[in-house]
Amino acid sequence: MDKIFNIETLTRESVKSLKPYSSARDEYVSDGSEMIFLDANENPFENGVNRYPDPYQRNLKSVLAEQKGVSEANMLLGNGSDEVLDLIFRAFCEPNQDNIISLPPTYGMYKVLSGINAVENREVLLTSDFEPNISGVLKIADKNSKLLFICSPNNPTGNAFSREIVQELLEKFNGLIVIDEAYIDFSEQESWLSGLKKYPNLIVTQTLSKAYGMAGIRLGICYASEDIIAVLNKIKPPYNVNQLTQQQALKRVMNQEAVAAEVEQILQERDDLIEALQQVRFVQEIYPTNANFVLAKVDDANKRYQELLEQHVVVRNRSTQPLCENTLRFTVGTPAENKKLIAILKQLG
Ligand SMILES: *Cc1c(COP(=O)(O)O)cnc(C)c1O
Repeated sequence: MDKIFNIETLTRESVKSLKPYSSARDEYVSDGSEMIFLDANENPFENGVNRYPDPYQRNLKSVLAEQKGVSEANMLLGNGSDEVLDLIFRAFCEPNQDNIISLPPTYGMYKVLSGINAVENREVLLTSDFEPNISGVLKIADKNSKLLFICSPNNPTGNAFSREIVQELLEKFNGLIVIDEAYIDFSEQESWLSGLKKYPNLIVTQTLSKAYGMAGIRLGICYASEDIIAVLNKIKPPYNVNQLTQQQALKRVMNQEAVAAEVEQILQERDDLIEALQQVRFVQEIYPTNANFVLAKVDDANKRYQELLEQHVVVRNRSTQPLCENTLRFTVGTPAENKKLIAILKQLG
């Protein structure tokens, strides 16, 4: 089948005909003068958050645009990447008609969002080396397959997918491909942001929740063509990213040295953790990782999970996921936390 990409045919009818909410502050052109704002029924007394936030987060976007080498028109910010992913569903998937394709074992939200939005989730298992099964995806896809979710580095397996495989999917899949790069800052592999110009069907999502250490403020980022971003902007809630989040995010992204130093430390700690896990008797396999966590196969995941819990350590038991029988996922903690974990593992093993 020849590749046919058309944003018009992918967008839901109801979204195409929608007229987005417009605030009074979108309806005049600023000449830079100081204005008296009597348009939005806000409390006028200044307390730092008495005004509605910028619906387009211009300050934050301009810094991100420069750092990432993309234009602000290629960017949409959301209340975590979970909101961004939900907006993508609602823009492009007709409930009870369209379908998405996801590649388990992977991030659980794709399936949850497909359920919430009444969109069929077609699952194609990763291969035994945790890579996407290209022919499986292309075989199961039909004209209603609007989205393909590729999580790379993948959660919970930790590996970044082969670029050749992802590239082939970008070239052959007829819907939109969402590459979820929540862990990209830990990866040796380059971001797919560089592919935005070449692939009109590519959407890349990133987040401040992992490497940037800001899971609590909820800031997710979506990068795509101007056409795709324009569709998403039409349906996003106007004030989806609050003022405090915009401020905190701006401060953090402008302090790249601090982020880089933490990432470096986490990667060093991760390598130490892998080395320690190799010495643990009940650990049978440690999977290659490009993220801030390690997936390991153990003798009895339920038992080891409970034992760790009794020692007040919470890890993620991924045993119920396909291809992940008897696996535990360890997030890399602080040096002190990792030391404790390793001591406990040694004692158990
Ligand atoms: C943690 C994670 C996210 C983060 O979602 P936020 O809503 O931005 O916190 C997204 N995708 C994957 C695969 C994750 O593991």
